[in-house]
Amino acid sequence: ESVFAGVVRAPEDPILGVTVAYNKDPNPNKLNLGVGAYRTEEGKPLVLNVVRRAEQMLVNDPSRVKEYLPIIGLADFNKLSAKLIFGADSPAIKENRVTTVQCLSGTGSLRVGGEFLARHYHERTIYVPSPTWGNHLKVFAIAGLSVKTYRYYNPETRGLDFQGLLEDLSAAPSGAIILLHACAHNPTGVDPTVEQWEQIRQLMRSKALLPFFDSAYQGFASGSLDTDAQSVRMFVSDGGECLAAQSYAKNMGLYGERVGALSIVCKTSDIASRVESQLKLVIRPMYSNPPIHGASIVAAILKDSQLYNEWTQELKAMADRIISMRQQLFDALQARGTPGDWSHIIKQIGMFTFTGLNAKQVAFMTQEYHIYMTSDGRISMAGLSSQTVPLLADAIHAAVS
Ligand code: PLP
Repeated sequence: ESVFAGVVRAPEDPILGVTVAYNKDPNPNKLNLGVGAYRTEEGKPLVLNVVRRAEQMLVNDPSRVKEYLPIIGLADFNKLSAKLIFGADSPAIKENRVTTVQCLSGTGSLRVGGEFLARHYHERTIYVPSPTWGNHLKVFAIAGLSVKTYRYYNPETRGLDFQGLLEDLSAAPSGAIILLHACAHNPTGVDPTVEQWEQIRQLMRSKALLPFFDSAYQGFASGSLDTDAQSVRMFVSDGGECLAAQSYAKNMGLYGERVGALSIVCKTSDIASRVESQLKLVIRPMYSNPPIHGASIVAAILKDSQLYNEWTQELKAMADRIISMRQQLFDALQARGTPGDWSHIIKQIGMFTFTGLNAKQVAFMTQEYHIYMTSDGRISMAGLSSQTVPLLADAIHAAVS
């Protein structure tokens, strides 16, 4: 008898499990709209040209070795990542009040930030939007924080529940940590306007709520790196403190390289350096130090103006293709006279559309049309192409008619 005989089977991850089911389906026309990864018009994964070029440069550089990185990762990468999210002219960077550590993509950055807060911050409750990326709940709970939610999405308008959001943040205890999606909220695709961000900022600062930004889609939402970082920069320019987790998975297509960064903006450079010393104590027993390859690619691109420009163009092309998929899907539903208002498809932003389809309708579409998505009705626009839009529109039409 195995010593593990008592281990019970765990359920599949609700997001990654969609791909597991998709892979098992023998139908040649099956469509996977569950994955949060970019696909080309041909439905293929994309490695950016600029990434290939940077990798070539790295491979041809004989001075490159495979030594361990420091606990906090590649220094250049950290500096350039902070500049990317906070802006090149950010006073916080100039005043040396930011500590940035390289982490294992967005997930790892959230985890390290969460554990640092659980150890060193006085208020151990984090509020995440309802709904949010499902992993947030688990990442922060395991980091030692108590996780609560604030109202965010209104299913009736398929837009922001701004009143509910303000009420819930007002009712949160002073000092509570608030998780904010910097842009392209996952799964809803609904972001506050600049004016609403300003109101959120004022409320949070007046109650000393601590912002923790999750930036997994910078540049990927609007096509502009600066526009997509605006929310974060508003909170930094008021001189207050905040955390930011960055991922290069989507915007550089470096998914499997696991490259990201955690930045903590502090009041003084002395505090920032003490915070950094404690971040090392979080990271060392977790994985010692981060991997070198992906961070070297990112640093090579960010530090060279020509590569950087090339990247912004490729990034914009990805964002534009997704925006065009929104329009095409909306038009296809209009053309079919599909019942209901589908304008949220073109109003929402980023990789996902929160369709409003319920679990039963989703199951119907999977069964009858071999279209796979999470049961909350979230579809990845990045997984669509001009060729597959009609199939999806047919399926949605049949599901709601
Ligand atoms: N945060 C949000 C909102 C996401 O959607 C994702 C990925 O889907 C992540 C964080 C983390 O992704 P990764 O760990 O691959 O960078």
